[in-house]
Amino acid sequence: MSLPRDLSPSGRRLWRFHGGVHPPEEKALSTAAPIAPALIPDRLVLPLQQHIGAPAQPLVAVGERVLKGQLIAQADGAVSANLHAPTSGQISAIGEHPVAHPSGLNAPCILLEPDGEERRAELPEPLADFAQRDPGEVLARIRWAGIVGLGGAAFPSAIKLAPGPDLPIHSLIINAAECEPYISCDDMLMRRDAAKLVQGIHILRHVLGVTGECLIGIEDNKPEAITALQQALAAHAPAHTELVVIPTLYPSGGEKQLIQVLTGQELASKGIPAQIGMVCHNVGTAVAVADAVLRGIPLISRIVTLTGRGLAQAGNQEVLIGTLAADLIAQRGGYRPGVTRLIQGGPMMGQALHSDQVPLTKGANCLLAPAPAELDASAPAGPCIRCSQCADACPVQLLPQQLYWHTRAKDMDKVQDYNLFDCIECGCCAYVCPSHIPLVQYYRFAKNSIWTQAEEKRKAEHARQRHEARQQRLERVERERKEKIRQKNEALRRKDKPGSDQGKPDAAGNPSGNEAETDPKKAAIAAALARAKAKKAALAEQGVQPKNTAELTPAQQRQVEAAEKRRAQAASQQESE
Ligand code: SF4
Ligand code: SF4
Repeated sequence: MSLPRDLSPSGRRLWRFHGGVHPPEEKALSTAAPIAPALIPDRLVLPLQQHIGAPAQPLVAVGERVLKGQLIAQADGAVSANLHAPTSGQISAIGEHPVAHPSGLNAPCILLEPDGEERRAELPEPLADFAQRDPGEVLARIRWAGIVGLGGAAFPSAIKLAPGPDLPIHSLIINAAECEPYISCDDMLMRRDAAKLVQGIHILRHVLGVTGECLIGIEDNKPEAITALQQALAAHAPAHTELVVIPTLYPSGGEKQLIQVLTGQELASKGIPAQIGMVCHNVGTAVAVADAVLRGIPLISRIVTLTGRGLAQAGNQEVLIGTLAADLIAQRGGYRPGVTRLIQGGPMMGQALHSDQVPLTKGANCLLAPAPAELDASAPAGPCIRCSQCADACPVQLLPQQLYWHTRAKDMDKVQDYNLFDCIECGCCAYVCPSHIPLVQYYRFAKNSIWTQAEEKRKAEHARQRHEARQQRLERVERERKEKIRQKNEALRRKDKPGSDQGKPDAAGNPSGNEAETDPKKAAIAAALARAKAKKAALAEQGVQPKNTAELTPAQQRQVEAAEKRRAQAASQQESE
């Protein structure tokens, strides 16, 4: 159970989550200047998968000219997001290109050569009267705009905004905490676009049907943003909206942690906020929603923090989606001497990039280039001294030390027994570890191993089911073949049985009773033959003899009989038709 922690400046009760750390904030490095406008690079690389879920499907061909804001790849399925051209230009290629992944993976991308003219596509009409419109119509606009969570998780926002009738939402949480050190893009966005954020909150409330409170959680290390938001809320606050200033503590900006700090409610291990009637969105997402709904602008750019003492010029910049990290850094004066690392994200949760020739996607909030002595990662890992500081720092109340030991032993069952998948990879444990053990890397390795094993198991199970289905089919075919042979043999045996009339015609030349009974066609022929014979007999009785059949040879007689039989067959066929 959580204990009350404190009161916010507005007098609201706050709650504490377990653990957390206070790393140096380093936000001032990038907040000295206002957000710089986007520059148009020579080339944009647009991964078809900008988010969690299925890659979008391209709608353009190589050589095609596109306009700024034009839809160039369509969401494929429910968990996917549209992709729009960030500027006008020509599609130069569609194919594999390195993307921002620590392994240096390639992924399918659309390459766009900007023409520098910024010619705009025709945008959809603004929904200024969104409050009078059906929430589904507004949601469709958000889906069209390709908006994903801009806090870093990049989950398609339209899904979070449609939790379904079984999960009624009473509260909206706006995540303005931005707790990760160095990153300041949300802070700068709130300073610049506080009014848009308030518009976004109005829209999100309408789409979700929220009638209860809306809480904006912000850490107390952002005084300028707090002032800007207070002013915007004073002018246009939606009902029951409250700006809640919380103490700076990493990772307060984790979704579950923020909900706990603001409301005291703890989410179950694999629970989502909608299960307790809440939906949480990042401030950048709310501003993107306002742009899409009120201005018809799709998500084609975002604010990125460029920071670290290894960069000539740190700051925040509006960035066209698809800009290469190298181009962006070059535009800002390049690296300082000695830089060897580039991290996408912050120092706690970010991922080291293998190259700067990778594009920035919708979820990219920061590029961090530390100077050689900054964020020193050179200290060698020592042995675990079982000090348990990692467990004290873990906000999810895991036992990081046990996770570490079992991962080292490759005992993946045990690792899961210790709730590996509850780990949010916040890095608090590694941050406090006096032995400098890169704990989070072990957890990522364990998660990947388990996912790989699960995938292999799934494939093996699929192959087994296919094999069994084939075996069953072959056995069925063989059974049916044998049954047919058995029936055929049985019929032959019955036919050949001494004294059996089966299949033999009766004295009048009719098929046997059984045969005639079971075969309606044969019965009809027999009946027609009988009628013909009866007619012949009647004519004979009357002394009428066919003139030309008096003295037939045996061969002629057989021909006549065959002809009569055919005639009788034809007659019976006509009757049956
Ligand atoms: S903090 Fe490091 S040394 Fe201490 S128990 Fe955890 S893993 Fe071991
Ligand atoms: S990285 Fe995982 S185990 Fe370590 S403190 Fe964070 S949640 Fe806990």
